[in-house]
Amino acid sequence: AVDYPDLVVVGAGLFGLTVAQQAAELADARVEVIDIRDHIGGNAYSYMDEETGAEIHKYGAHLFHTSSRRVWEYVNRFTEFTDYVHRVWATHDGEVYPLPTNLGTINQFFRAHMTPAEAKALIAEQAGELAGQDPQNLNDKGISLIGRPLYEAFIKNYTAKQWQTDPAELPASIINRLPVRFNYDNRYFQDTWEGLPKDGYTKWMERMAADERIHVSLGVDFFDASQPYSKDALKAAGVPVVYTGPVDRYFDYALGDLKWRTVDFKEVRYDEGDHFGCPVMNFSDADVPYTRAIEFKNFNPERRDAQNPDKTVVWEEYSRFAERGDEPYYPVNTEADKALYARYEELAAGEDKVVFGGRLGTYKYYDMHQVIATALDAYEKRIAPMLAK
Ligand code: FAD
Ligand code: UDP
Repeated sequence: AVDYPDLVVVGAGLFGLTVAQQAAELADARVEVIDIRDHIGGNAYSYMDEETGAEIHKYGAHLFHTSSRRVWEYVNRFTEFTDYVHRVWATHDGEVYPLPTNLGTINQFFRAHMTPAEAKALIAEQAGELAGQDPQNLNDKGISLIGRPLYEAFIKNYTAKQWQTDPAELPASIINRLPVRFNYDNRYFQDTWEGLPKDGYTKWMERMAADERIHVSLGVDFFDASQPYSKDALKAAGVPVVYTGPVDRYFDYALGDLKWRTVDFKEVRYDEGDHFGCPVMNFSDADVPYTRAIEFKNFNPERRDAQNPDKTVVWEEYSRFAERGDEPYYPVNTEADKALYARYEELAAGEDKVVFGGRLGTYKYYDMHQVIATALDAYEKRIAPMLAK
């Protein structure tokens, strides 16, 4: 017979590791963390590229940012952060513009030298009947924020490539994350704290798991009945489970498949030290088939001396609908998807001793800080009570 731990966590991503760390530290629980992949860290995992000295974020570029003091203090227990501030540029119609939309973008686009008040008045006029409203879909939200010409230049085609879904069916929340500024501030995020983990994402997450009460098993599939930590075995043994895989997969897709977008990354190597001159270049137009290109070296300028001055590596991102077996990255979240998720959520609520969490487990477009915040909450409210001996 298996000597079961106090808690099994499915998924060694940030949700799973946060819960495991809290359970070990606060409840003195023995925790088994399993992951189907051969590494920890979930989608925030990264590795060093030997040729260039770039830290490659294997599942897409990850920038940490938060305004939650609780989350910031928590993550700082496991890593220091660099003073990196995220900035993005966009190539449109043969020119490079600063993003997110700011006075620099607006004045360059209109070949003008407007003041903030003048630019605001122009945008309001171009937003037409949507000006100042708070529409619920991405199309109307985008136009109300920056007016139709800028929307068509910087949002429409990029969004078409990223989502392949009518923007009128996408939730406004997808672009609510992007600020619009009537000054020259081009910080991408608006949060109080941001930065990149000083010695990399993977070190950060290894430290979260570095508690002798936590054991991690890699290459283990929760749905593989031949291993001891399978769904059926744990249910039979009455062991509490935290599940951070796809919620529809847990129920064997009984109600149908939730829709996800995935990204294919194409690696391109250049015989030059710096190809774009910035870490992220978005491509706003339809003629470039990828949404954006990531030049990983440029996330860590403080590591220049350890990087190859003559070589760089770039990943181009090609977005498409995920099939079963693909990595599910972005929940599509049309009204129909949300309705389907609500039904899965009901099934999930009926699972005794199983807590669903994270981006996949709750079908939410969460950033890392939100995943950590919801994991700290889930631990306190739902998991700690199950562990009370
Ligand atoms: P995950 O990290 O996905 O972890 C879930 C784990 O469960 C995975 O390791 C998976 O292998 C495992 N698993 C699944 N099924 C099984 C099974 N059957 N058996 C065993 N294990 C299983 N956030 C930011 O804050 N800033 C960013 O810049 C940012 N950029 C992003 C870019 C992209 C392209 C993507 C996709 C996400 C980005 N995010 C970003 C979001 C961030 O990745 C997530 O918020 C966070 O990593 C999610 O953590 P999680 O633990 O919920 O899920
Ligand atoms: N977006 C856009 N043009 C851009 C950047 C973003 O239209 O140049 C829209 C697009 O719909 C995207 C959303 O804003 O999906 C959120 O962008 P963000 O950069 O936050 O996306 P993520 O990093 O999560 O892929």
